[in-house]
Amino acid sequence: MRLVLLGPPGSGKGTQGQRLASRLGVVHIATGDLLREQVESGTELGRTVAGFLDSGQLVPDQLVLDWALPQLRKAAAAGGYVLDGFPRSVAQAIAVDDLAQRDPIAVDVVVSLEVARAELLRRLLARAAEEGRSDDTHEVIENRLQVFAEETSPLARYYREQAKLLLVDADRDADEVTESILSALAERGQRPG
Ligand code: AMP
Repeated sequence: MRLVLLGPPGSGKGTQGQRLASRLGVVHIATGDLLREQVESGTELGRTVAGFLDSGQLVPDQLVLDWALPQLRKAAAAGGYVLDGFPRSVAQAIAVDDLAQRDPIAVDVVVSLEVARAELLRRLLARAAEEGRSDDTHEVIENRLQVFAEETSPLARYYREQAKLLLVDADRDADEVTESILSALAERGQRPG
């Protein structure tokens, strides 16, 4: 199974990504977490991307692609993936589709986590208080939601046109959301692995 989780900051991609990957027996790739690790370890990539993360802007496509596509290839070869936070722009999705012409890495299904804006803000501000992430300040949160609306949400249309999009009400308890995704996948005839 090769699945993409699509959703704004605060929609639960991280939580659902981990759970789905373990239930489906595939690799979870969370580009935001991996990029934060690079920043924390002070790698060259980390130093280059730190400013984008802090301000809530997207890291430039080519940088992300050079680094993420090899991981995607590896995960696909090992049985599949759940992508959380990638692709995040239509250009990134096109790059995945281009590579899929040569390598068996094509996305099977895209799960869009639907949550009302007021609830997103509530969750993100609560997380800011708990985790103190550098991009969870009020101003940066607004910016990240804006970046999502402008650069990432067009992916819904991109994948709807490929008949890969599945909408899920994610304004619910995390367990309910996981079960509803798994049953929607089963209804589509999508099998683990
Ligand atoms: P996240 O943890 O998914 O909310 O991501 C945190 C930050 O990492 C984002 O605000 C971006 O700066 C950066 N980021 C993560 N994934 C990507 C991606 N696929 N393309 C560009 N930037 C990304």
